[in-house]
Amino acid sequence: MSVNACIRLDLAAVRHNLATVRARVPGARVLAVIKADAYGHGLLRIAKTLDSVEGFAVARLDEALALRHAGMSQRIVVLQGFVEPPELELMSQHALEPVIHAGFQVGQLEQASGIQPLPVWMKLDTGMHRLGFMAGEVSGYYRRLSQCPTVRQPVHLMTHLASADEPDSSDTPNQLHAFRERLRGYPGEQCIANSAGILAWTATHTAWIRPGIMLYGVSPFAGRTGEQEGLRPVMSFRTRLIALKNLPTGARVGYGGDWVCSRPTLMGIAAVGYGDGYPRHAVAGTPVLVRGQRVPLIARVSMDMINLDLTDCPGVAAGDEVILWGDGLPVEEVARHAGTIPYALLCGITQRVKRIT
Ligand SMILES: *Cc1c(COP(=O)(O)O)cnc(C)c1O
Repeated sequence: MSVNACIRLDLAAVRHNLATVRARVPGARVLAVIKADAYGHGLLRIAKTLDSVEGFAVARLDEALALRHAGMSQRIVVLQGFVEPPELELMSQHALEPVIHAGFQVGQLEQASGIQPLPVWMKLDTGMHRLGFMAGEVSGYYRRLSQCPTVRQPVHLMTHLASADEPDSSDTPNQLHAFRERLRGYPGEQCIANSAGILAWTATHTAWIRPGIMLYGVSPFAGRTGEQEGLRPVMSFRTRLIALKNLPTGARVGYGGDWVCSRPTLMGIAAVGYGDGYPRHAVAGTPVLVRGQRVPLIARVSMDMINLDLTDCPGVAAGDEVILWGDGLPVEEVARHAGTIPYALLCGITQRVKRIT
């Protein structure tokens, strides 16, 4: 029996993509970024598939604890660090590695007592202006961290690139220059590159790298696909046709009647909508695969259904599988039609969608 909205995960593709990362940056240690439920793919399933990596990076403490509770013993970096002392204590108890990006965290490390020293990653703000220490703060806080008894030495060092997906931008060279300037002589291990850095900027390749989106087989660059980077898509988002209907020329379709049939139309209804994470802003003409053939979305996306124009797709029947993205239809292309980025589509799959491997 075919099923309503579900995602299928190709775990062999995850391993292939990790091998591609390693081939791009031989010898680097990999912090696999699996925040946000592994970009919507399922935290534990992806973590277990990637268990040969040297470490994982997650955004928040609860994601890291879920990994520890599942028995993962790799290094785990928590990109947002801690905000309050009890969170610091939990991180120490579970041998997690917080990113230290603000002065108040240094104060809490100094005041903590009776905790196991923990490795920390000092984050420099080299131009992204989100988390991290500004130029004038680095040496003072670095000194305090390097003398702090609750910090395992040496202090590791990182920064995040704001525009690595723009090959012509001078932001990345500027950020690299700022990072090196401020850290001259500090002994800790360094980590800079995200997927775009790995693929486009060899100068960002340091002891550690932090691939995210490319592990899932998706390109970080606008206008390119994962396949063009030698990657394989991991997620395929599918559903089935639940109805077919013949409409006359002039029939208005869907909420608001925005779509008007310009010819006698065989319309299909597929069981997926924004309630499943299909983007509501996907415009008419967004491609969908039915029987391996590209067909256009028509009318507005509803919560549980979308409308397809199947006039040029003879032989279709209720129950036929519909691929929304994945094998044969890059999520990058759907994102473009929906005015969003593939990251948001992958993360946006909702709870009711079944995960199948
Ligand atoms: C999400 C994230 C990454 C991974 O970025 P990709 O573009 O998915 O490779 C790396 N570092 C930090 C700090 C992040 O937040």
